[in-house]
Amino acid sequence: MNKETRLEMLTRLRDENPEPTTELNFSSPFELLIAVLLSAQATDVGVNKATDKLYPVANTPQAILDLGLEGLKSYIKTIGLFNTKAENTIKTCQMLVDLHGGEVPENRAALEALPGVGRKTANVVLNTAFGWLKDNEGKYFLAVDTHIYRLANRTKYAPGKTVDQVEANIIKLTPRKTEFMFNLHHWFILHGRYVCTAKKPKCGSCIIEDLCDFKDKVSD
Ligand code: SF4
Repeated sequence: MNKETRLEMLTRLRDENPEPTTELNFSSPFELLIAVLLSAQATDVGVNKATDKLYPVANTPQAILDLGLEGLKSYIKTIGLFNTKAENTIKTCQMLVDLHGGEVPENRAALEALPGVGRKTANVVLNTAFGWLKDNEGKYFLAVDTHIYRLANRTKYAPGKTVDQVEANIIKLTPRKTEFMFNLHHWFILHGRYVCTAKKPKCGSCIIEDLCDFKDKVSD
């Protein structure tokens, strides 16, 4: 894929969905942080089902601490790996209360220091909750999940053998236009989730089919 093709691909994804966002339900940075923490190896739909019941009852670090570990588990037990996620959520809430006045820090290092929060979760929170394009060092960043990794490799938009390579290549190869840098994350996730699916991509109804370099395209 060359520069012009990448630009055309982003332009089509933009025209199809000018203001993409996460499908996780949230109304504050804290709600997004916990939803992303819960979403590892789980679907957004499954996480939303749980948080739609949890957040009306507890949507601050202190309120979740007040629920206690077992109380929290009762809300999230339908989500995979809920035992570990509940423990990490409680520890994260405790750190937010102890170190950050009960607020989510707008800082990558502080976010990544929270239990259960890795680079990807920190990137999603910085991008989606706080509107960041660049990190504390002034470098562009991107949260690469399984959908973004697959789409970048299949289309040859920015191939890479690891998520870090894909992140670096996407940042290197994406045209420097704010809306592209800001929205690519959600465009790729949504396209990967609904069209370029892992097992049977819907190439016959894909709006970037003629731009995509995947060798094993599947007609619908
Ligand atoms: S043409 Fe097929 S493989 Fe390429 S992006 Fe579209 S769905 Fe994915």
